Amino acid sequence: MPESTAASTLLETQDLRTWFPVKRGFLQRVVGQIKAVDGVDLAIRRGETLGLVGESGCGKSTLGRTLIRLERATGGSVRYRTDGSMIDLLALPRQRMFAMRRRVQIIFQDPFSSLNPRLPVGEVVGEYLLIHKLPNRQQRIEALLRSVGLSSDYLYRYPHEFSGGQRQRIGIARALSLEPEFVVCDEPVSALDVSVQAQIIRLLRNLQREMGLTFLFISHDLTVVHHLSDRVAVMYVGKLVEYGPADSLYRRPRHPYSEALLAAIPRYRPAAAAQERVLLEGDVPSPANPAPGCRFHPRCRYAESICRREDPPLVPTGGDGTHYVACHFAEQLRLDGVTPPQTGAATKETMK
Ligand code: SF4
Repeated sequence: MPESTAASTLLETQDLRTWFPVKRGFLQRVVGQIKAVDGVDLAIRRGETLGLVGESGCGKSTLGRTLIRLERATGGSVRYRTDGSMIDLLALPRQRMFAMRRRVQIIFQDPFSSLNPRLPVGEVVGEYLLIHKLPNRQQRIEALLRSVGLSSDYLYRYPHEFSGGQRQRIGIARALSLEPEFVVCDEPVSALDVSVQAQIIRLLRNLQREMGLTFLFISHDLTVVHHLSDRVAVMYVGKLVEYGPADSLYRRPRHPYSEALLAAIPRYRPAAAAQERVLLEGDVPSPANPAPGCRFHPRCRYAESICRREDPPLVPTGGDGTHYVACHFAEQLRLDGVTPPQTGAATKETMK
């Protein structure tokens, strides 16, 4: 992609693959591969939030975890800009990757299971500070708790004494304890009530501004993604099918799968239009056995015979070089978008 060479690029992947072997029988012979991430090219700019959306099981979380080496990649590269040059995280020896952990972190989906129940909050938040032998631990922990809106009186309490939203604040404090540059937010509000979601999203936005963070924000909820994202990538069965500026992708999607996902957000559509919304039928196919040609063709209402034979590449569409689509008919189709409210207003209106 053209932006891959830009100085603003913090991280880029090329042909990134994460496959898991399917084993059977007494001898555990490998009989196939689950291609959770299957040839992803992606560039993330410093300081932006890239939203990553798609149905459950499409490979979003595996992609996020592979970027920071919590999953082992099968192939491809993840290049990260550090001290002016790009280094391949996948090729780093373990000791150098340990040092890189200070720059790349993750906020997990489930605040209930991601915190050690046997440790008081102060130790949970200070865990990475201890591992990396950083000084002034106590002051840092108290400052981190304050930065996520929690009192330092909570230092000696245990995770089970907190609500879901408070636990996610603790998880965020821990993820930010090493002052990272890049954070994978893996469905960080999916397990929370809607009113609490809005608070956590506001908190993430404020922290991003104050700390100059770059986010990959993973969610199956396109409303939530719109509140935070500068650009959005749409994933289907291990591949990116569309990728572009958030507002233009929501207003004028160019891939039929994006159109169907957007049509399922009734809050963004006038009532009359909602009645004609595009239904997405059938389940997400198994990444062990994706359809030949365009993987979306069994569910696509625009499919033609070429779609069953040839896999469309992800290419620039629309002329300005910011929008990428993997569809044989991206230039011809006139798909329905939605009209999302302005981000600030949206947070108040739709997420309270
Ligand atoms: Fe639908 Fe064909 Fe485009 Fe795939 S390539 S999204 S099947 S029109």
